[in-house]
Amino acid sequence: MNGCRNSWNLLDKKNVEKERTKGDVHRMNTAFSLTALAREDLQGMVPYDAPYYPDVIKLDANENPYGFPPEVLVQIFREVGSGDLSRYPDAAAVELRKSLSDYISVRPENIMVGNGSDELILNLMLSFGTGAKFAVATPTFSMYGVHGRIASSAMHEVQRLDDFRIDADGLISATSKPDVKIIVITSPNSPTGNASEPGEIEKILKKANAIVVVDEAYNEFGGESCVPLLDSYANLVILRTFSKAFGMAGLRVGYLLANTPVINELLKVKQPYNLNVFSQAAASLVMRNRPHFLERIKKILQEREKLYWELSQIPGVKPYPTQANFIMFRTALPAARIYNGLLERGVLIRNVEGPLLPGCLRVSVGTAEENEIFIEKLKGIILSS
Ligand SMILES: *Cc1c(COP(=O)(O)O)cnc(C)c1O
Repeated sequence: MNGCRNSWNLLDKKNVEKERTKGDVHRMNTAFSLTALAREDLQGMVPYDAPYYPDVIKLDANENPYGFPPEVLVQIFREVGSGDLSRYPDAAAVELRKSLSDYISVRPENIMVGNGSDELILNLMLSFGTGAKFAVATPTFSMYGVHGRIASSAMHEVQRLDDFRIDADGLISATSKPDVKIIVITSPNSPTGNASEPGEIEKILKKANAIVVVDEAYNEFGGESCVPLLDSYANLVILRTFSKAFGMAGLRVGYLLANTPVINELLKVKQPYNLNVFSQAAASLVMRNRPHFLERIKKILQEREKLYWELSQIPGVKPYPTQANFIMFRTALPAARIYNGLLERGVLIRNVEGPLLPGCLRVSVGTAEENEIFIEKLKGIILSS
């Protein structure tokens, strides 16, 4: 197995020397002080860096393990090939929003698309969070913390209850402070896997003077959607993505559902051409070829049940119930030991251990073969220690 490639540390010795000399050139200008110019609130921030391992069984990012259907790929190339790549993309992504409207039965004007839902999270923070705070049900997806920080929105954590259900009263009372303007709930949640009841979320929608973001990135795998609540609540925002169930993580397409006044605020901070021609065409065609993907989703769900059962049979391992395409589990051994042991054996999962999740790891549901290898290697590590 090859080692990890850290994308920003590719400099060889010669380049390091060049970089050093460049530094000398900068020092010729005595008026220039980078420290005095860089944003003070980001001084301690460590840039997000996803490690890249080329030759491993990749069960760390909840991607679709079955690859992209070749027959849909052919359609995408045909469509993109007949267009003109020298022109900017449709800034309003009209075709894609129409296809999405058919899929979820929400009017196109209530749909906004983004370069991954990551971009939409940043847009939400920029529109409503900057200079204020957002409350988030933790433990959860780390990108809320990252984009909050970039947009100068301070994170106020409201811990989930012992069984990882959201603390609805805690979230409501967080917004009694006037500077908390956004509430974030991921459902099904990552990394815990459990979904929230729309009824619980509705309690918050009714009482909180805040934008309530429900991140439904894993909705196609389980949990009840909050989409039916959109007509009743002006403060509801729902996030979805093509990265998980629809196997398009590499093309970066996410979307957001909200009422018009909220969409109008978000359009002010949206990059005009945020979604490129290729990704718009691909996402529209994926919507028109949904049966292909629904079959794959069904297979993932079957494999999830098998994987859950296998995990529960290993002494000292406790898998948590899940409605997503991954399983969080706890082991008696330190999580780092399991993570490193698996990586040495060619299997990459996610170590999610932290004060709220002692001894916990998260594994994506892969193909039957991948899951079998993962279970075999995990057993090897646990039974030999
Ligand atoms: C994977 C994931 C996303 C999707 O991010 P993209 O930028 O659309 O790839 C969003 N929210 C959660 C909770 C996720 O796990």
